Amino acid sequence: FYLQPKYNRILLKLSGESLAGSATHGIDFDTVLKICEPIKKCADMGIQVGIVVGGGNFWRGRSSGKMDRTRADHMGMLATTINALGVADALEQLGVQVRVQTAIAMQQIAEPYIRNRAVRHLEKGRVVVFGCGTGNPFFSTDTAAALRAAEIDADIILKATMVDGVYDSDPKKNPDAVKFDTLSFMDVLNRNLQVMDSTAASLCKDNKIPILVFSIDEPDNIIKAVCGESIGTLVKE
Ligand code: UDP
Repeated sequence: FYLQPKYNRILLKLSGESLAGSATHGIDFDTVLKICEPIKKCADMGIQVGIVVGGGNFWRGRSSGKMDRTRADHMGMLATTINALGVADALEQLGVQVRVQTAIAMQQIAEPYIRNRAVRHLEKGRVVVFGCGTGNPFFSTDTAAALRAAEIDADIILKATMVDGVYDSDPKKNPDAVKFDTLSFMDVLNRNLQVMDSTAASLCKDNKIPILVFSIDEPDNIIKAVCGESIGTLVKE
């Protein structure tokens, strides 16, 4: 059947956890390959794809306990880079042209993040994987996704997670939890919904970037999302 993409340029946010598969920790490369198949389809459809990867499958600064937060966040940013390289390798194996750019320079293993260069890659049909989050401690990769989406002028952020949308309470704990189809950023901020941190939500709100939150359990959801099918929860102005 014929697929008609709704977006020209997307920013896909992959949580670190989504790369771990059933292992919950580290990288399960078969899982990464499965996630990259629909990304290849997007690229083949002519959609320009930027990807921000999380690092929670290895390390999260905020759960580091006694460590100095800044140093713990440096470790978290390195974790996102490991994931970025894993995703890039899987995409390459599938025949996709890909470049990795890191917010903290590591020139022997990736390009440094340069906005205009990233846009140029996208225009040439290359997928760009952004590592190191924003390059600053005390931020999250959700905020990095919002920032990069604003910089590259993405039409939407697709936030692929382990849950199939945003609920009014934790669906794992409350069987009566209700899923939202749409939400405003004000709702997210005021009701303190755990969909993204307030820094990321504010950045998206101020720059009018919508976010679709959906489950990556079914990797083809990425295709449904880019074709505008109503899955997950859409957060917009
Ligand atoms: N991080 C950071 N600055 C950023 C993005 C990430 O310091 O701009 C660090 C932070 O320690 C964070 C870790 O990298 O906990 C992994 O990112 P995140 O927790 O957002 O990953 P996810 O939960 O999406 O897997």
